[in-house]
Amino acid sequence: MNIQDLIRPTIKALKPYSSARDEFQGNSDAMVFLDANENPYENGVNRYPDPQQRSVKSLLSEIKNVPTKNMLLGNGSDEVLDLIFRAFCEPNEDNIITLPPTYGMYSVLANINAVAIKEVQLDAEFQPKVDAILNAADAHSKLLFICSPNNPTGNSFASEAISNLLKSFKGIVVIDEAYIDFSNEESWASRLLEFPNLIVTQTLSKAYGLAGIRLGLCFASEEIISVLNRIKPPYNVNELTQLKAIEQLQNKALTDKQVSVILEERDLLVASLKTVDYVSEIYPSDANFVLAKVDDATKRYNQLIEKGIVIRNRTTQPGCENTLRFTVGTPEENKKLIEELKSLSTL
Ligand SMILES: *Cc1c(COP(=O)(O)O)cnc(C)c1O
Repeated sequence: MNIQDLIRPTIKALKPYSSARDEFQGNSDAMVFLDANENPYENGVNRYPDPQQRSVKSLLSEIKNVPTKNMLLGNGSDEVLDLIFRAFCEPNEDNIITLPPTYGMYSVLANINAVAIKEVQLDAEFQPKVDAILNAADAHSKLLFICSPNNPTGNSFASEAISNLLKSFKGIVVIDEAYIDFSNEESWASRLLEFPNLIVTQTLSKAYGLAGIRLGLCFASEEIISVLNRIKPPYNVNELTQLKAIEQLQNKALTDKQVSVILEERDLLVASLKTVDYVSEIYPSDANFVLAKVDDATKRYNQLIEKGIVIRNRTTQPGCENTLRFTVGTPEENKKLIEELKSLSTL
């Protein structure tokens, strides 16, 4: 597969903006920096941030076992996904394939970028239908979005199905691993060398507890990373975000501890949901949330709001009629959730 043939001609021809920090990358305190029209008085953020986020990437490289040359960081994974659209999808010409029920941003970004969407619904077990996906693809199908563990269903996709899609799909396969840190499955980032058309996205918004700083991760071949680097805004990850990410990544033990509590709590939540009489099905979860089917999702959703608990009603999603999505909270929050769920039994 030739990745160059998938890139939009406009992007291939682009001469990227060269920032002051791109042109001189010295980090020496002895240097006098008079090149970027900054205010020289030190306050911690008076200088432009590192456009390549080298300190953050080197910590991530150790944790994720991915070389820094195979990484791009964005202002949330939403920015990473948007860069991928703008690199590969010609407006009003190309299309993408999504596998509903799944994360809503893929189709929002497609609509923003005037890119058509082909939807191939997951099967009854919420697994991808490989043949149907490959049949839906045409010469303009540039991106295939695979969300695993999937939001809102919570399950991971069979690795054989994913590897078949990676081998046979003629465009870029984006595997969104926003929830991988809660899963025992291995990240597809370990297989970048095997699949030149693979892009893996992750985030610090979920397991790492940093949704507020907006830091999204992208792992791909050097060839793909260099294309995305051409179009990203020069200083897309701000200094406060980089500092906070470094602090959190240096304390990986804290994240690991929180993840293990969340996973214990998830199992407890599942066990408790089984005892609620209007819950008819609980879907297997590899993430920090649980999808469950109830008698009347909208009614139960509104009742919980009355009790001061906000969950997500997924009833309008394909294949998700009368389902609710519960994020795992603190032990106290989960206890309150379960008490309120049980109290609604007779209502
Ligand atoms: C939450 C989530 C993200 C995270 O997006 P950020 O922009 O990094 O916060 C990405 N993909 C999926 C499927 C998600 O559920």
